[in-house]
Amino acid sequence: MSTIFTKIIKREIPANIIYEDDLVIAFLDISQATLGHTLVVTKREYENIFELDDKISAHLYKVVVKLSKAINKAFNPSGLNILNNNGQVAGQTVFHYHIHIIPRYNESDVNFTLTNNYGLATQEELEKRCKAIQSAL
Ligand code: 5GP
Repeated sequence: MSTIFTKIIKREIPANIIYEDDLVIAFLDISQATLGHTLVVTKREYENIFELDDKISAHLYKVVVKLSKAINKAFNPSGLNILNNNGQVAGQTVFHYHIHIIPRYNESDVNFTLTNNYGLATQEELEKRCKAIQSAL
């Protein structure tokens, strides 16, 4: 079954489309968490970041940067977040790859706090974490 975003791509359901090319589409997020909140979506139904190849990821991020600059120019926000949720535990609700561009006007616009665990892991443990990632590259 098609995802909700594929339905938008195929014009089966409406959306406020901002940009489109062969590989990606961008439209306003229906929730408008903040004024100008935009989604950049792959046209192919990749489920998450782990399915992306170099070509689509490079192109996608180029479009994200282009649109971020346009949103910045259009609305003059005080800041801007780039967000991508992968997996239900990370807050993903639509399983079709997309990046949120969220212009920020106030600190209270969006609640997203990173726990600060600085100092909890030993240097040895941190080195083990680096090595685990490096050996998976
Ligand atoms: P996720 O939680 O997967 O990172 O983000 C999914 C986003 O898609 C949500 O912010 C939600 O508001 C948006 N969304 C869900 N359904 C629709 C829709 O039909 N149209 C648009 N424009 N956005 C949608």
